[in-house]
Amino acid sequence: MTSDLKFSVQVNRNFDKAAALTKHPEGLLDQIKVCNSTYHIIFPLRRDDGSIDVINAWRAEHSHHKLPVKGGIRYSSFVNEDEVEALASLMTYKCAIVDVPFGGAKGGVKISRLDYSEQELERITRRYAYELIRKSFLDPGIDVPAPDYGTGAQEMTWILDTYNSFAPSKLDSIACVTGKPISQGGVRGRTEATGRGVYFGIREACSIVEDMKRIGLEPGLEGKTIAIQGLGNVGYHSAKYLSEGGARVIAVSEREGAIQNLDGLDVDDVLSHRKETESILDYPGAKNLKKSDSILEVECDILVPAALENQITHENVDRVKAKIVAEAANGPVTSDAHETLVERGTVVIPDIYLNAGGVTVSYFEWLKNLSHVRFGRMDKRFNESTNAALISAIESSTGKKFNAEVTKSIVHGADEADLVNSGLEETMINAYHEIRETRNQHAGIGLRTAAFIVAINKVATSYMELGIFP
Ligand code: NAD
Repeated sequence: MTSDLKFSVQVNRNFDKAAALTKHPEGLLDQIKVCNSTYHIIFPLRRDDGSIDVINAWRAEHSHHKLPVKGGIRYSSFVNEDEVEALASLMTYKCAIVDVPFGGAKGGVKISRLDYSEQELERITRRYAYELIRKSFLDPGIDVPAPDYGTGAQEMTWILDTYNSFAPSKLDSIACVTGKPISQGGVRGRTEATGRGVYFGIREACSIVEDMKRIGLEPGLEGKTIAIQGLGNVGYHSAKYLSEGGARVIAVSEREGAIQNLDGLDVDDVLSHRKETESILDYPGAKNLKKSDSILEVECDILVPAALENQITHENVDRVKAKIVAEAANGPVTSDAHETLVERGTVVIPDIYLNAGGVTVSYFEWLKNLSHVRFGRMDKRFNESTNAALISAIESSTGKKFNAEVTKSIVHGADEADLVNSGLEETMINAYHEIRETRNQHAGIGLRTAAFIVAINKVATSYMELGIFP
């Protein structure tokens, strides 16, 4: 699927629609919309065979209304300045929506990682980090990157090590990047955070009786049919938690094709089959669909695009049958297709809210790094002793015993994973209701426009409170 419009034009269209429903001065809205600074870096890479490649890379800091700014780094041969700036702006709005006190940023290196050896990827990453440090685009209090498409914990560790070598005595240097392995200051629950957040967001949307009635669905996740595009980090974890929450994943797709089984698919088993055969196709008991993007047209309650941008466009929107489109990926629905969906009454749960679980838990990782202590380390055992004493006091005063299972669950003190997951759940639930209430205050708008209004109001308030300098 393609769209003729640049990614930033699409994001700004959504922004303008929401901005028109606010009362902020035009100049302030213009300031919120623009990307504050973009650094385009070109550097040479010495390849393993001695030849030299010229590498293009960017870091865009969209809004400095709060510091640090935050956003992932992409390694992809399609990366360009417009995409990086558009994704950085989505990060600003996303952070505002989930009350993460950061501005938005994004980085991109224009390479396909498959073209480079591990050693070459390390040299690229370290040189990119060095260039960012030179211009103060990498620092725990200024700009804190994270993984995105094509990068992961390994790249984040190289970035941390490069930063450390330039600031050896800085106490908070470990907070210069998130998405690190646990052994390097990462936080439990970060890997699965985006998919878990997608689950919390969909569950919340489905729990509201009147909203479900409007689209002809029963409230609750139980038995809802789901189709998922892409089984990478976000798609896989969304599928896992949605299934555990009672929904039925009836169709999935990957690059090579799509499969469907109305009785439900076990996604772990589908991935084992893919590992063995190098394809999800011909999975026992499922039918192969015509093409990979047939997934978007499957008859289902909830469609979860979790792979790429620009998937539902004016070309295929009329064939989308789902009653809810849950944007786990960034920008999977173009702005014109979105209008069609909203006019038709389809509920679109927007990316700037739904996939904010990743940045929320990155925020928790940053907090952990600044406090230099694992969540739960100081009070888990203390709480367990207090809870056990309480149980024992109740038992001796009543003469009755709790069963072992109940005792275990009451006594249990929260560890890092418990606290991270509960903080994420709280964040996703609160943000959903804030967006929904805003939607209900304006006739005829969808959740995306409402989410933009929420974000614009928060960023505008921040600018006005701080004042415009000088
Ligand atoms: P990923 O690389 O782990 O997964 C993407 C998956 O999509 C891969 O398995 C890939 O093979 C598959 N895919 C590619 N083209 C496809 C196609 N045409 N049809 C079906 N599947 C296809 O990436 P990810 O981290 O899961 O990110 C997915 C999306 O979610 C991106 O838009 C990303 O920006 C967004 N996102 C990710 C996070 C995060 O924490 N990872 C956070 C917020 C948003």
